[in-house]
Amino acid sequence: MSEAVGTDGIVGRGNNDGARLFREWFQELGAAAEAGRPSAYVFVMGSLAELLRTFDLPVVFPEINSLQTAVRRAAHEYLDQAEDYGYSPDICGYVKADVAAQLRGGELPMGRIPKPAIAVYTNACNTYIKWAEIWERMYGIPVFTLDVPGTRSEGGQTWPGDADFEHDRRYVEAQLRELIPVLERVSGVRFDVDRLREAMGHTNGLVRGWKQVLALNASRPSVFNALTDGTIYLGMANCFRGAAAGASYFTDLVEEMTYKSAHGIGTLTEEAWRLLFVGVPCYPIFRRFSELFTEHGGTFVGSTYLNFASGGANFGHEYDLARPLESLAEGLLIGVRDAMDNMFHQTGPLVGMVDDLAADGVVFHPIKSCRTVSTGLADSRRALQAERDLPSLFIESDMMDRRVVSEAQLKNRIDAFFEGLASRRAQAAVPRAAAPPTA
Ligand code: SF4
Repeated sequence: MSEAVGTDGIVGRGNNDGARLFREWFQELGAAAEAGRPSAYVFVMGSLAELLRTFDLPVVFPEINSLQTAVRRAAHEYLDQAEDYGYSPDICGYVKADVAAQLRGGELPMGRIPKPAIAVYTNACNTYIKWAEIWERMYGIPVFTLDVPGTRSEGGQTWPGDADFEHDRRYVEAQLRELIPVLERVSGVRFDVDRLREAMGHTNGLVRGWKQVLALNASRPSVFNALTDGTIYLGMANCFRGAAAGASYFTDLVEEMTYKSAHGIGTLTEEAWRLLFVGVPCYPIFRRFSELFTEHGGTFVGSTYLNFASGGANFGHEYDLARPLESLAEGLLIGVRDAMDNMFHQTGPLVGMVDDLAADGVVFHPIKSCRTVSTGLADSRRALQAERDLPSLFIESDMMDRRVVSEAQLKNRIDAFFEGLASRRAQAAVPRAAAPPTA
């Protein structure tokens, strides 16, 4: 039911260019590995790619490498190897796939990644901190934890000008100033504030486009599937942050989505149900999982994943290039907080998406090996129901481990969900019986 590629050369361009850029990006990592160049290992929530690029450090995203092993149906080999090595079946599958990749000298189904010379990460997920300690032990590298203060309560994000925000911003900025000499030492490159400005300018273009693309999915029919197409765009938002190619990719993507919106071109021939997705995708059966919904005419118009896994880039915060380090701290604070709120306090963002994207239902997808995102989703579902009278589905599987993914069970639950949606719509279409005369 997917839309064919080809209309004026625009439709489908984002997916094709995304696949090509991703391959090129990975080839560059392979070349760095061959040359023994130092690299920086980072995570998607607060990657600081703009800063790391100014030190000529190739940026490696182990979360993205790990999910690619699942999409390419090789994750079980990596998980088995890490479990044989001593890691528990219970912990984050991304960590285990990465451990196995490191044990294989960086070999992955897509190519080879370079060894780390440093790891730079935030506290957005507690697993990040323990994960980096593995590289610290394996390679004896410096690891730098950036402590980003979260919001103090749901809906408690503060903004520039607010006294609390300025305290937190200065705290983050001081850590960035400590990080710079460490990066100079590791890379052998002097910090150049003009290169940082340039990279931040590219990020401004990228996040501006990302925010517009997400908003364009309010079109009816929706212009991209947030679960499948959206994951390609998300990869671009992370891997090409701070790069000219990232900014131009999103400029083109806005053009494509605007074109589709103007011409009524959707992702399905008939869009019957507009859904929201909460959690991390089921990568072991990535395409099939989506088909279980599209076969019923259901498409995902929005997802909390696109928000938190882009490190809050969805928010569209643009840097002030006149005060780069201060503004980098500000952007990191706003973005990482938004990412954390999309994991821990989803109700507000979800209510916003339900209203803005005219959703018919919400799919909650807690998974075994990511407790950070999955814990509390049952409460989140109840909280959403208190705010909006909307059908929801709660299905469990995993992002990496095919041993806990049962396609047959998922299909049963998803089929029943659509039956419920259809019967609810049918009931709503029946005119209410006329009130009896009262006099
Ligand atoms: S957010 Fe979940 S999937 Fe990502 S590193 Fe943390 S535990 Fe693993």
